[in-house]
Amino acid sequence: MDIQALRAFEDNYIWLLRAGRRIVVVDPGDEAPVLGYLAKEDASLAAILLTHHHGDHTGGVAGLLARHAVPVYGPACEPIAGITIPLREGDTVALPGFQDHFRVIDVPGHTRGHIAYCSQDSLFCGDTLFGCGCGRLFEGTAAQMWASLCKLAALPADTRVYCAHEYTQSNVRFALAVEPGNAALQSRAARVAQLRGRLQPTVPFTLAEELETNPFLRGAQPEVAASAERHCGARLSGAAEVFAVLREWKNNFR
Ligand code: ZN
Ligand code: FE
Repeated sequence: MDIQALRAFEDNYIWLLRAGRRIVVVDPGDEAPVLGYLAKEDASLAAILLTHHHGDHTGGVAGLLARHAVPVYGPACEPIAGITIPLREGDTVALPGFQDHFRVIDVPGHTRGHIAYCSQDSLFCGDTLFGCGCGRLFEGTAAQMWASLCKLAALPADTRVYCAHEYTQSNVRFALAVEPGNAALQSRAARVAQLRGRLQPTVPFTLAEELETNPFLRGAQPEVAASAERHCGARLSGAAEVFAVLREWKNNFR
């Protein structure tokens, strides 16, 4: 499967899956870059996949549907106009013309009904897992987000993660504050700085890389837990509690 990024707004990625001339887009917050691509490549839109209801992920749906009558897949538990195929955990998405199938995973936390799409080797996770970070808790609880991240972390380590924002560099700064002694994180920081210096994307990345460097997945590591305890001034018992403190800490981190 050919996967390309379309940039939108400040730092959003609209992921575009391509099989021959057929295109599927994930989280089109804006229709303009998608319509521009379809015209330039003489390609046809086959479907739209949505992860959650925020406008920077859904704002282009109406404009695309006005020109292309395609199925719209999205979370069953979120109010999104235009969804024709509501999805829940365990559902499978088979896109006509595409070999890969996608499994749907419920990942509440950023929003209450957020879903992710997972193929053999790719994960489209919207605003749940980011490069070296995770989404803010707008609707869900820390416990929900932790459980969601644990589900994603359990996928095969070579899974390529296509998240919806280019946030990696600022996330890495926070990660270094939490875990300054992590050598894998230090080398990731250098790699990310180099990529961003050339305005290149840091996405996709692999789950393996996240497991080694993303503090939000590393609450069980002694250095991460100790940092969180120092930050909140209390003893924490377990990775879920560490996660909750890190999420709160990151909200106010500059
Ligand atoms: Zn969002
Ligand atoms: Fe977003």
